[in-house]
Amino acid sequence: MKDCIFCKIIKGEIPCHKIYEDDNFLAFLDIQPIAKGHTLIIPKKHYNTFEETPSDLLEKIMPVIQKIGIALKKSLAADGFNIGLNNGQAAGQLILHTHFHVIPRFNDDGLHTWPSVKCTEEEFKQITESIKAKIK
Ligand code: AMP
Ligand code: ZN
Repeated sequence: MKDCIFCKIIKGEIPCHKIYEDDNFLAFLDIQPIAKGHTLIIPKKHYNTFEETPSDLLEKIMPVIQKIGIALKKSLAADGFNIGLNNGQAAGQLILHTHFHVIPRFNDDGLHTWPSVKCTEEEFKQITESIKAKIK
């Protein structure tokens, strides 16, 4: 994709701090890290969103994410890590090239978890049925 920053990184037109590469994927440090070691893992082939990314590629990316998460933990002496993906503008996706975030976490890092919303038993039931009906 011509104007995609991540495609430019893959082609070597924009520099990055590369930490891993194989035939299908590239992993590099996020330029505005939430925590030191915050890494992005991207498929080398351009797909705008997670939804559009073929499932066989997603199957292959999971072990890579796991490998990198473990390496981040060991190298930074982190206590855990978050795996994240923003799918769509509403979810905070700024760059339209599928990418997973792996963010090292520390027991005392002060990063808070997401807030929760109230949901009645009726809503839980209704939402469950409506999601189940849409699974293909
Ligand atoms: P998202 O909001 O999920 O689309 O995340 C995009 C991420 O890409 C952000 O965390 C940015 O800091 C990061 N980013 C943008 N440009 C670059 C770049 N040239 N090198 C590394 N990370 C980048
Ligand atoms: Zn791209």
